[in-house]
Amino acid sequence: MAKRDYYEVLGVAKSASADEIKKGYRTKAKELHPDRNADNPEAESQFKEANEAYEVLKSADKKAAYDRYGHAAFEGGMGGGGGRPGGGQGDFGSAFSDVFDDLFGDFMGGQRGGGGGGRRASRGSDLRYNLRVTLEDAFSGLQKTINVPTSVSCDNCNGSGAEGGAEPTTCPTCSGMGKVRAQQGFFTVERTCPTCSGLGQIIKNPCHVCKGAGRVEKDRALSVNIPAGVETGTRIRLSGEGEAGMRGGPTGDLYIFIDVAEHQLFSREGGNLFCRVPVSMAKAALGGSIEVPTIDGGRGRVQIPSGSQSGRQMRLRGKGMPALRGGGSGDMFIELAVETPVNLTARQKELLAEFEDLSENNNPETSSFFSSVKSFWDSMKG
Ligand SMILES: [Zn+2]
Ligand SMILES: [Zn+2]
Repeated sequence: MAKRDYYEVLGVAKSASADEIKKGYRTKAKELHPDRNADNPEAESQFKEANEAYEVLKSADKKAAYDRYGHAAFEGGMGGGGGRPGGGQGDFGSAFSDVFDDLFGDFMGGQRGGGGGGRRASRGSDLRYNLRVTLEDAFSGLQKTINVPTSVSCDNCNGSGAEGGAEPTTCPTCSGMGKVRAQQGFFTVERTCPTCSGLGQIIKNPCHVCKGAGRVEKDRALSVNIPAGVETGTRIRLSGEGEAGMRGGPTGDLYIFIDVAEHQLFSREGGNLFCRVPVSMAKAALGGSIEVPTIDGGRGRVQIPSGSQSGRQMRLRGKGMPALRGGGSGDMFIELAVETPVNLTARQKELLAEFEDLSENNNPETSSFFSSVKSFWDSMKG
């Protein structure tokens, strides 16, 4: 197989500067890196090819030789030559580590702080706290004290993790990078430093209270303002009330997840409330005013038109839930449940019987139903 031109391999012109060559190699190495091309032998061989090309072109001497003699310059054991299994591997490590820092930053998506130095402190976790409130509380809003189990900055060491407030020292294993490199077969891999667990620093004399973490577990009482209008699923963010960071890192946030309990009288849909109210048969027939409960603990009055059927909805404007971010309140809907009287006295029975006799021909809905039934039966006969 003919060897490809090294410039072509790196996608640069023959006149490319050292910087352009490095850039070209970086682009190829990123694109072809095994981390991104698992089980892709073609990418792997192109990756090796790019390494080999860069190994030659980054060196002024080798580049000059290559420019003059082409691949022939490295045939016959000059080292770094491709094609021979294992031949170029010794050099590959150094080629790759030249751009390793840049590449690493790209691969890790910026997890590491900008440019060396390693991680000294890390942000604390966000915390979630589930809070169940009653519908009444959701209506009026409330001030509530909650106990949040969290870790807070250690008082004994002011969060530094070192006894007596001494400064942590740079980790000798990784020189503060938090990572160590190891040759693994063909590739140089980075691992979290085993000495400092990736923090880049070690503490010679750890704080006896927090064992060097700089933070301790503690229950914290927090007074939380739950605004009126919250509903199930509402999240309230308390900035900086989450877990303390490691060794003085920024604190996370606390999220309160609201869950509004079911109510025995009212059901809720967004800002509106629904309530079923029983009405006597007589009142439903005659019409009149009924008293209904409201979520603020008061009473409202609703006028019922005469001849109201069960299931009829009446609306009380503005008696629903307040909007969470201002802007008025929802409505309350009252659904009438007409009740059939039970446990009648003899007198009531007598009156109802008389009522029934009189009703036979003057109830439009009932009579239209019966006439429909009659025509149905007639059609079955015919
Ligand atoms: Zn280390
Ligand atoms: Zn401490």
